[in-house]
Amino acid sequence: MNRHSGAILVLSGPSGAGKSSLISKITDHIGPTYFSISTTTRAMREGEEDGVHYHFVSVEEFKREIEEEMFLEYAVVHGNYYGTSLGAVKKALKEGQLVIFDIDVQGHDAVQSRLSDITTSVFITTPSLEELKKRLHNRSTDSEEVIERRIQMAKREVQRISEYDFLVVNDNLDEAAEILVSIAKAARMKIPTLQINEFVQKWEEQS
Ligand code: ADP
Ligand code: 5GP
Repeated sequence: MNRHSGAILVLSGPSGAGKSSLISKITDHIGPTYFSISTTTRAMREGEEDGVHYHFVSVEEFKREIEEEMFLEYAVVHGNYYGTSLGAVKKALKEGQLVIFDIDVQGHDAVQSRLSDITTSVFITTPSLEELKKRLHNRSTDSEEVIERRIQMAKREVQRISEYDFLVVNDNLDEAAEILVSIAKAARMKIPTLQINEFVQKWEEQS
């Protein structure tokens, strides 16, 4: 039985671990994919584009969207709001796409509690805290204060690795991308319970 409905791949991990770099490396190798564009109240970084990297909104706008129940999940991360819009995700799942979320551990929790039977999750990190610090400094997109906040957060996030299906250590980018391609392909094949039940019923009926 090959599944045709959509599936979800959650990617979490400390900021600076290489999630965005890995996503851009794998997108051409994993079939029809929708990368969920989150909404955030954080300031736009240099090189980022509204509607491409995030939907950048004010706190007031974000709170209005919460009230209108437009989010599948949302959380406060590093002092800013981040949320996953429900509408676009629903559409992509209906079209049978693999929907990729780059969300934090709180978001992963929420997605698992609502959609666990179509969700595969991966925690991505650097080989060490030292390497994470290096990458955050080299990326040169955040102030010292923001980097320090991200490092403290990273120490808390890695405590929750066991909640994930897979751990990918992004040491060599090409090798990590290769592993992630395999996981993404398998994620697409995850079968929801309902579909299994239908298959078993049909399988028994055919004689
Ligand atoms: P994230 O999306 O998780 O915040 P990024 O993809 O922005 O992380 O990566 C953070 C920084 O680390 C970037 O400057 C990126 O070029 C660099 N980077 C990503 N993967 C590797 C790697 N395997 N080795 C060295 N540097 C890397
Ligand atoms: P950044 O500011 O570096 O782009 O992202 C900071 C953190 O917010 C990352 O851990 C990222 O995974 C998380 N994040 C981005 N979008 C969302 C979202 O829609 N929901 C949740 N819960 N976390 C998000």
